Amino acid sequence: MIGIEPAVRTEETGRPGHVARNRRRILCVFPVYARSFGTFQYAYRLFPGVRAFMPPQGLLLIAAYLPPEWEVRFIDENERPVSDADFDWADAVLISGMHLQRGAIDDLNARAQGRGKLTVLGGPSVSASPDYYPGVDILHLGELGDATDALIARIDESTSRPAQQQIFATDTRLALTQFPTPAYQKIDMANYFLGSVQFSSGCPFRCEFCDIPELYGRNPRLKEPAQICRELDAIVAAGIRGVVYFVDDNFVANKKAAHALLPHLIRWQEANGFPLRFACEATLNMAQMPDLMAMMREAQFVTVFVGIETPEEAALAAMEKKQNLRLPILEAIENFNAYGLEVVSGMIIGLDTDTSRTGRNLLRFIDASKVPLLTINLLYALPKTPLYTRLERAGRLLSPEAAADRLSNVDFLMPYDEVVAMWFDTITTAYEPDALFSRFRYQTEHTFANRALHRPETSWSLIRFGLSIMARVLWHCGVTAEWRRQFWELCWPLVLQERIDEVIHIGAVTYHLLNFTRDIREGRWEAAFYASSNKNTPVPGAGRIECPVGIGDR
Ligand code: SF4
Repeated sequence: MIGIEPAVRTEETGRPGHVARNRRRILCVFPVYARSFGTFQYAYRLFPGVRAFMPPQGLLLIAAYLPPEWEVRFIDENERPVSDADFDWADAVLISGMHLQRGAIDDLNARAQGRGKLTVLGGPSVSASPDYYPGVDILHLGELGDATDALIARIDESTSRPAQQQIFATDTRLALTQFPTPAYQKIDMANYFLGSVQFSSGCPFRCEFCDIPELYGRNPRLKEPAQICRELDAIVAAGIRGVVYFVDDNFVANKKAAHALLPHLIRWQEANGFPLRFACEATLNMAQMPDLMAMMREAQFVTVFVGIETPEEAALAAMEKKQNLRLPILEAIENFNAYGLEVVSGMIIGLDTDTSRTGRNLLRFIDASKVPLLTINLLYALPKTPLYTRLERAGRLLSPEAAADRLSNVDFLMPYDEVVAMWFDTITTAYEPDALFSRFRYQTEHTFANRALHRPETSWSLIRFGLSIMARVLWHCGVTAEWRRQFWELCWPLVLQERIDEVIHIGAVTYHLLNFTRDIREGRWEAAFYASSNKNTPVPGAGRIECPVGIGDR
């Protein structure tokens, strides 16, 4: 750690922290991200009030960790932009973001400094690539820990801008059991498409393209179940309706801990009238844990995002994703479905093992698996990954200048144009309306029917909210959409069976995917899919916002 004084321990809280000597006004800002495949912007119009995807966990955590004497204002620019008055109010501006938001982070930093404010940047993007952000006054690298305390001490001492960039890097992470509840009270949760909660950090696996083990460690760190229940209380109090996403990189990174958590989640749901549905990210080996999946069903989990990456076994072995080889992939997906869990999957094109047949193989797999929603990304080498190191050594990592006109920084083994054409063809074929609705038809029969969902306690406001969503879904999907015939063929029988949650879920997902695919087909995909005009920014799949989940339960 490079910084000021080490942490002190406050008597009042029992957790490390800094006792503030001065009053400060801190503006916490989460930058805007452009439309992308995984953030579901097209579907927001179907849900009254929704303007952003998921609450920014990391920044809400920092907001909660700041000294209680300090005033904190929290703005998610996906909800509303920061005004000059907001900047003028603040003593310092704290920003957090992903690679996906790199351009917006730079813009926000320039605006804040233009008003003479001290700027601080933390979060996954700067932690992986501090060299991306030479213009920010202070960088906070790594997770909450000793660097955070030193940073707070620095701001307490002075809010003047340093002559040279200062860097605070965490050496000793704060135990997750000591994390405060994120400052959910600072946001209106009803403005978000999904709620979010974090149980663990880190992943024991070592997939070649992934930066999680390097950034967050291979020995997962965990919260206590009681902490999660307190956070869920706070999330519900902040106005969430519907789905809460466990943002853990791998929900079963520590199987024993996941087993221990689930009975608490079940009891929490029972005690509170089953107000929420859950979704998570996990590895495919979860399909071999029937006890765990049975408890997840009881706890009202509806969706699992799984990084399948490719159906080609040689490719999985080459990328060190051998955990996907323990069970035939289609069998694993069937196991998930049997417990009512819809699988959402990430897939990658541009691997060294790809051939001209890879796209067709992928489409055959999509058809056979009946997974409706897959994010299909071009391989991109993120810093702090084994892939990055390997390609750099082999001279196959393109410089920013060389990658400027490309959609990836990887010098593929196949011709670049062929890889991009294969990617384009795979997406546009997978998201033909007939194909997508056929996969959802399978889900209604083989997944949704296996759920044991309890209806949340109703109130007039909830009924009004539900009717308003349903009216929007029926109008946009059932009246104005080009694919309304396919929508009604699948959804009218569900309406008659009062499976309204499923109609809303199918409507919202298809509305987003089919509109987005139309953008891709019509050549608007470049800006949209890559979510940044800066083509050096990694693809959405690398941006860690991969959670298009059980939306109908909102
Ligand atoms: S891709 Fe998933 S399973 Fe693999 S290392 Fe990253 S978080 Fe772990």
